[in-house]
Amino acid sequence: MAYLPNIIFAMLLVAGVWFFSKNVKKIYRNIQLGKAVDTAGHTPQRWNNMFRIALGQTKMVVRPIPGILHIIVYVGFIIINLEVLEIILDGLLGTHRIFSFLGGFYSFLIGSFEILAFLVIVAVALFWVRRNILKLRRFLNPEMAGWPKKDGNLILYIEFILMLFFLTMNAADYQLQQMDVAHYTKAGAFPVSQFLSPLFQGMSISGIIAIERTAWWLHITGILFFLNYLYYSKHLHILLAFPNTYFGKIGPKGKFDNLDAVTKEVRLMMDPGVDPYAAPDGDAAIEKFGASDVMDLDRVQLLNAYTCTECGRCTSECPANITGKKLSPRKIMMDTRDRLEEVGRNIDANKGKFVPDGKQLLGDYITAEELWACTTCNACVEACPVSIDPLSIIMDMRQYLVMEQSAAPSDLNNMMGNIENNGAPWPFNQMDRLNWSKEP
Ligand code: SF4
Ligand code: SF4
Repeated sequence: MAYLPNIIFAMLLVAGVWFFSKNVKKIYRNIQLGKAVDTAGHTPQRWNNMFRIALGQTKMVVRPIPGILHIIVYVGFIIINLEVLEIILDGLLGTHRIFSFLGGFYSFLIGSFEILAFLVIVAVALFWVRRNILKLRRFLNPEMAGWPKKDGNLILYIEFILMLFFLTMNAADYQLQQMDVAHYTKAGAFPVSQFLSPLFQGMSISGIIAIERTAWWLHITGILFFLNYLYYSKHLHILLAFPNTYFGKIGPKGKFDNLDAVTKEVRLMMDPGVDPYAAPDGDAAIEKFGASDVMDLDRVQLLNAYTCTECGRCTSECPANITGKKLSPRKIMMDTRDRLEEVGRNIDANKGKFVPDGKQLLGDYITAEELWACTTCNACVEACPVSIDPLSIIMDMRQYLVMEQSAAPSDLNNMMGNIENNGAPWPFNQMDRLNWSKEP
């Protein structure tokens, strides 16, 4: 029976990690549904982007107040979780503060964790006020109603509670250390929780131990729960921001990629040596132009969708959204993820095979009105703190509308017809191009 807590802890740990790895596999499988994309080369630049943008948070501080608060939460979360290593070892081996032999360095670590935990609590409270009291416009867009709003708040509550458990555990531990209770050897520095420990004065030793153990169990259970919650939440970005910034677009900003098939066709048209009546290559697969569903997007675009933090910085910079159009680049990313998840569930339910469900990203999630509202200004891509490119999805879906459905707005269709027939956007014959010079 003495080993019961260790066995329960080991089972909890295995279950938590197992569920998490199951969901990681699903994310990977879903991303693989996209088209392969060539991300070879530019390796130093890619690493640099990842360290600068994901680890260094350089794009977050463009807006200093939320940027600094976010860095506190981020650093706090990463560093305090170093302490999880000790909790895991203690839980498995039945020890208490196994790293306490590090002496002064251990005290420095625990002290730093406590200060960070306190700062995280303050930052999380301010984030909550921004979301719920100050009601910033970008948190009020229609796509944020329902689950996205709840998710944003839930993350803040979980982080707040986790830090509170951590400080309660330390405060009770500190009190037990002061009382020279066996097993609670004097170790660590408690610059924050020492101010909570007077709350336990006058309590029995068994009562304080019960509080310390309860906070310890709830803290580690909460961490394992949070790990598994990530899959269902926008908080997935704490992991995916790294690969996303690594595989992010390299090259001139706002540059559009030409479709290979179209480029080939134009070259053939321009090459006088080519026989225009030659039979087409019968083996060549008929290529679909543009994207109408998530399987037509590439893998980096799908990774983008999973990485979106729903911060709305893109939407708050989008001229179309600011001027009241229906388009929100954040919604483009949220819709892409929702549809991808739907496709993933379809595959799970049909033994690994996607069964057409009569739905697609275009129309069922993203409307043509949203797509045509885009000015292609690239502001959303510039604003994104984790290198997401909503514009590329918009352009791929527009390509589908134009090239597969001839469904461009009439003004655009006229212009494209004129370019095709007259070599210019205007409805005049090429022979008349210089007529203006003859006008009196
Ligand atoms: S590129 Fe389009 S979606 Fe992005 S900010 Fe500009 S108008 Fe908005
Ligand atoms: S695309 Fe980028 S800027 Fe826009 S909501 Fe997602 S993470 Fe934020």
